[in-house]
Amino acid sequence: MVETKTEEKVREGSIYGQITSLGHEQLVICYDEPTGLKALIGIHNTVLGPALGGTRMWNYASEAEAITDVLRLSRGMTFKAAISGLNLGGGKAVIIGDPKLKNEAFMRRFGRFVESLNGKYITAEDVNTKTSDMEFIRMETKHVTGLPEYKGGGGDPSPVTAYGTYLGMKAAAKKAYGTDSLEGKKVAVQGIGQVGKFLVNHLVQEGAIVYITDIFEDRLKAVAADTGATVVDPAMIYDIDMDIYAPCALGATVNDNTISRLKCQVIAGGANNQLLDEEKHGQLLLEKGIIFAPDFLINAGGLINVYTEFQGGYKRETAYGQAEKIYDTCLAILNKSEADRIPSQQAAIEMAWNRIEAVGKVKLSY
Ligand code: NAD
Repeated sequence: MVETKTEEKVREGSIYGQITSLGHEQLVICYDEPTGLKALIGIHNTVLGPALGGTRMWNYASEAEAITDVLRLSRGMTFKAAISGLNLGGGKAVIIGDPKLKNEAFMRRFGRFVESLNGKYITAEDVNTKTSDMEFIRMETKHVTGLPEYKGGGGDPSPVTAYGTYLGMKAAAKKAYGTDSLEGKKVAVQGIGQVGKFLVNHLVQEGAIVYITDIFEDRLKAVAADTGATVVDPAMIYDIDMDIYAPCALGATVNDNTISRLKCQVIAGGANNQLLDEEKHGQLLLEKGIIFAPDFLINAGGLINVYTEFQGGYKRETAYGQAEKIYDTCLAILNKSEADRIPSQQAAIEMAWNRIEAVGKVKLSY
């Protein structure tokens, strides 16, 4: 089965409609009266291994919004793990409510729900959950990763994410320019948070001409002072003269409005879900000859880091070694995209499904 449907095509209003069209195995609804915990755990596909994905806490406007989010995010994790060559399936959890509700009992109760799935789902940190929350979850289940370094965990995964993103960008440059050197290339990094700032360091070290933007002025000033990067107003980032656009802030920044403005030859960044509409905007980029490095592949360093930790005896070199494979995988996807005349995101999804199907058959016999 080749999955190319975008989330926009999901039938709304029916839980089973969404689950069947996205291909999920399970949606677990958790509620605990004493702590007020309301959580959803989405398990998309466990052919390659247990479903690993972080827990996001968000004050969703509606239950429907939370369900759509957990299903969308868990599906994305299936592709990310499969394309990265990991023996993991795709899962994700969302906790509904104000992050201020979090305390020890709340997180430990969530840990017990994770435990009840007997290892089919492994959790980690995500938006509004931290390594300290994982410590509470760990008190109730061993099916958790992303613990702090002093507890033997892998700590902040962002440097590994940035490194993989940098290598994916180099692979995309190789495809676009015939050389993967970024020296002298004008690279615009949008968002200099955890991932963006480490990416800027790699780029500056290689001699790229780096432009940075962010909505936090203090952060911009600090990174500019440290690296010599040029500061650009957030509203102007799509219009500047650049070779490479690196989205490292929000999703959906590649859309009708921005594609017509971008003058770059390559898009490669760490943000999730960069294409507003996977099919439409992937196709538009292909037609314009802009090389798009699939986001869920090149930002997989964070997943690689927590997976390395989960396997035990965490070593950062192991995580970096696995992340280095992103370069070859990215180049293979871009070559397939060119040969089959299909958007690179579609080529990546096809490669991910092919691996799931092939490895699934291996498991049919002893
Ligand atoms: P972060 O919150 O540390 O950084 C995001 C930065 O983007 C912040 O500095 C923020 O001020 C800035 N920003 C927000 N809106 C902006 C706008 N409109 N214009 C310019 N800048 C804006 O987050 P992060 O951990 O660096 O993650 C960045 C992206 O990468 C996210 O999409 C995240 O989902 C994705 N990602 C992160 C990791 C990881 O290991 N941290 C792994 C995979 C994917």
